[in-house]
Amino acid sequence: VRAAGVVDALVVTDPAARRALWRIREDASGTATRMPDGTEAWPGWEDCAVPPARLGAYLREFRTLLTAHGLRGTPYGHFGDGCIHVRVDFDLLTAAGVGRFRRFSEELADLVVAHGGSLSGEHGDGQARAELLPRMYGAETVALFERAKTLWDPDDLLNPGMLVRPAPLDADLRFAVLPREPVPVAFGYPADGGDFTAAVRRCVGVAKCRTTETPGAAVMCPSFRATGQEEHSTRGRARLLHEMLAGEVITDGWRSTEVRDALDLCLSCKGCRSDCPVGVDMATYKAEFLHHHYAGRRRPAAHYALGRLPLWLRWTARTRTAPALNALVALRPLAAAARRLAGLAPERAIPPLARQPFTRWWRRRPQPDPDSGGDLVVLWPDTFTEHLAPTVGRAAVRVLEAAGLRVALPPTRHLDRPPVGDGRSRLLNPVALLRGRGQVCCGLTYVSTGQLDRARAVLRRTLDLMEPVLDTAAPVVVLEPSCAAALRGDLPELLPDDPRARRLADRVLTFAETLERHAPTWRPPRLDRPVTGQTHCHQHAVLGDAADRRLRAAAALTGELSGGCCGLAGNFGFEKGHWEVSAACAEEQLLPSVRAAPEDALLLADGYSCRTQLEQLAGVRGRHLAEVLAEGLGEP
Ligand code: SF4
Ligand code: SF4
Repeated sequence: VRAAGVVDALVVTDPAARRALWRIREDASGTATRMPDGTEAWPGWEDCAVPPARLGAYLREFRTLLTAHGLRGTPYGHFGDGCIHVRVDFDLLTAAGVGRFRRFSEELADLVVAHGGSLSGEHGDGQARAELLPRMYGAETVALFERAKTLWDPDDLLNPGMLVRPAPLDADLRFAVLPREPVPVAFGYPADGGDFTAAVRRCVGVAKCRTTETPGAAVMCPSFRATGQEEHSTRGRARLLHEMLAGEVITDGWRSTEVRDALDLCLSCKGCRSDCPVGVDMATYKAEFLHHHYAGRRRPAAHYALGRLPLWLRWTARTRTAPALNALVALRPLAAAARRLAGLAPERAIPPLARQPFTRWWRRRPQPDPDSGGDLVVLWPDTFTEHLAPTVGRAAVRVLEAAGLRVALPPTRHLDRPPVGDGRSRLLNPVALLRGRGQVCCGLTYVSTGQLDRARAVLRRTLDLMEPVLDTAAPVVVLEPSCAAALRGDLPELLPDDPRARRLADRVLTFAETLERHAPTWRPPRLDRPVTGQTHCHQHAVLGDAADRRLRAAAALTGELSGGCCGLAGNFGFEKGHWEVSAACAEEQLLPSVRAAPEDALLLADGYSCRTQLEQLAGVRGRHLAEVLAEGLGEP
């Protein structure tokens, strides 16, 4: 490297850092579709090449031309070969913008030719260049091309309009058919100016979502890897949504059954949100679609059974019927009938409910001294921890208190305060008072089944309850990664006009982040064990797992957790018709990694879905990191 005159160099040996560097290269063509300020940029002038000796002069004149047309672009690519890729912020949505695209294209073609270059360096010409080829080859040569083509293809069957007798370079632009005004939607789409159409046209088709292997911790796109079908890739779904908005091929809009069927096998794992170079967020688009598709209509049974799970489980807890229900679903015929009624996969076992919900345990334990010192942290009693896995909550309390933190739970009564935010909150609602105590909820199950009106209602009630917490400096610790991701991502996007939503989203911390930020001097017990298991897909996509890695390292837990998606993904794997894909996803990475793990390995899975999948498909018990650390601490 030094011999080449390089002024500085670094040999990267850390696998995660190597992956991050490779990702810059792999994602370049996608990343370049966004300008630094987040606005869109488009291909159309990719791939011109000039002799390398002319590159400097060409680039200077190229920039001058961009400026003259009021355009911006970021060149990247093969500078050593004189071949430049660039995505330019053309306005392809208005007639004036398309006119500028044409004029710029003509002048740039002349510039490339003046430097002795080629309009296409490493790829084909296509419709974008064909009209301009006479400027490079001369009309006589192109006429010869035409005669040769006619000889071999007299009926013009092969790629018509692409080289000779070309279609105009600005004809058939993909966006011409899209609606000009933003369509009414439920999510805020802040990165796309509130425009669902802009969100959908993010996909530039580079097909990273169609790779059949997942590098490192990557997740996207488990449904494509399971079926191998384009319609089950992120790109295929984005394409179908594009067609739905265009209304030419798919003419029934949000009611389209083709789009519904393509989205049906999307696990809402959010893998594309982080792994797609342009951040196509199909889980959000799916929720949006289901919201409109079923508006005013009966939904699949699973939407009622699983989407409203927090409600059913709360009733079960209030009526103290969990033991009776557990006994009933242990009877095979009854379990089968319940699955049929609820639209669940017949292959699935119904998980048992906890006899004592987490918050009931909390109320019965000796209450900690409020003046005991240490930072105050508010522990979020998510539905899964509360009703299905309260041991996780108890373990988290044990560890957080051992780390010197003061743990509190969110309020369950509305306080007498003036309404805030969107003004639709009712703080002293007599009906709510009659109903008794309220419970916070992230709305995840409503979002993933597209019940967005209910999700917003649930989230508004939650914000009302959380107001006293927002007045403090306390972080909100969320143990279930999918709930933490919903609060950080979906909450502010569903209630963009309520300032409390952003404030709560900014307070959310994972278990590991809480310990790192609020108990930085605390040392976890040294466990000296290898680990295997699953990084939750929402953790990978929305929350990040850097703090978890550091906490595991501090506890001497060695080894990597698997990437991909466990395949259960909340309601997805429980719904009828999803069993095969759900099991195939688990077989892709998680189950092989568990089988290959050393005998003494601890099986980590912070997500309730991942633990359930492990239990039902491999008969092994995964544990939350909080449980593993609490066990290491021993009895208080
Ligand atoms: S959705 Fe797939 S094809 Fe589209 S930009 Fe993302 S990775 Fe590329
Ligand atoms: S959310 Fe997951 S399954 Fe759905 S398209 Fe994105 S990566 Fe694929």
